[in-house]
Amino acid sequence: MRRYGVAVIGATGTVGRRFVKLLEDHPWFYVAAVAASGRSAGKAYAEAVEGRWEYDSPAPESVAGLTVLDAAADALKIAESADFAFCAAEMASKDETRAFEDRFAKMELPIISNNSAHRLTGDVPMMIPELNLSHAELIPFQRKRLGTRRGFIAVKPNCSIQSYVPALHPLRCFGVKSVIACTYQAISGAGKSFATAPEILDNVIPYIGGGEERKSEAEPLKIWGEIRGGEIAPASEPAISSQCFRVAALDGHMAAVYASFREKPPISEILELWREFKGDTEGMGLPSSPKRFLTYFEEQDRPQTRLDRDIEGGMGIALGRLREDNIFDYKFACLSHNTVRGAAGGGVLTAEALCALGYI
Ligand code: NAP
Repeated sequence: MRRYGVAVIGATGTVGRRFVKLLEDHPWFYVAAVAASGRSAGKAYAEAVEGRWEYDSPAPESVAGLTVLDAAADALKIAESADFAFCAAEMASKDETRAFEDRFAKMELPIISNNSAHRLTGDVPMMIPELNLSHAELIPFQRKRLGTRRGFIAVKPNCSIQSYVPALHPLRCFGVKSVIACTYQAISGAGKSFATAPEILDNVIPYIGGGEERKSEAEPLKIWGEIRGGEIAPASEPAISSQCFRVAALDGHMAAVYASFREKPPISEILELWREFKGDTEGMGLPSSPKRFLTYFEEQDRPQTRLDRDIEGGMGIALGRLREDNIFDYKFACLSHNTVRGAAGGGVLTAEALCALGYI
């Protein structure tokens, strides 16, 4: 496999720093350029993230000395310096973000985005590679619309859905009819630490801005949708209702899930499907694929955010507490790491899959 030069746009933010960290020893990708807002532009990367770099070891040497580019003013330079880019820099509005990402795609730079602006654009694949790899087939349709040869945009779904959508996915053979998913989300999901979000200490805040609950209800239906006429036709089921709370955890989004099925399966079959689940990326040899995507804990008090968020290097989903419910068929708990599986790690895996399939 050849080595791909990668630009990280929004490289100084929570997700961007995680990208830089994950790419440190990546066998296929190296960081060719880093970009952020005008506030960071012109500084060496190590200086731009000073006081924000949260990892035990310092920023990788190969990136620490790179000059941070201005994502807007230096767009052409960024597009020319990389084979593709990871983007985690949301602008003031979704329209602005869409225009920003389209501009790079039209400069023939493929964009793997963590931003929400393009998630529901019909011909933009929103990927959890294990679950809907075939949605990459939207890329030729999107390229036609954009008038590009190489450039396109693929997005990651919202971090909050990445525990319960993988858990429900193998159970779709029973007809998942209705779901309640309440998420207990870490502060890094808002780009915060305990130093910058003191209001969360000894607290739970029952609101996450930016339409988090609407996204948590709508995005799974796109993941489970089908390509029709060059766009995704979202799935019509299940009906999903969500509440999203911010809790005093640094990393890791937990979900409490209730689900009913057209044909109620026995618990043993659900556990078997979770245990045996092999995603669409099985056998592709992608460097960031977890060995085991879904892990079920038998202990009554697991998964726990602090203990289990790093399962499979943060790329696995931790499940537990499956039991009968007296309103729905079943309830269970599930957990994923929001900045790894839910953001940068999921982005890296998506890029690996798109490289392996020849789209990048
Ligand atoms: P963050 O920590 O606030 O970082 C934002 C980044 O965007 C910084 O690098 C910032 O640069 C840059 N930026 C801001 N305005 C910009 C502009 N006008 N032009 C270019 N760059 C600009 O945010 P984050 O938590 O990393 O989130 C980034 C994106 O990922 C958001 O869209 C978020 O919704 C999404 N996301 C986050 C998570 C998560 O768990 N945190 C998970 C999934 C998706 P400066 O440092 O120069 O200001």
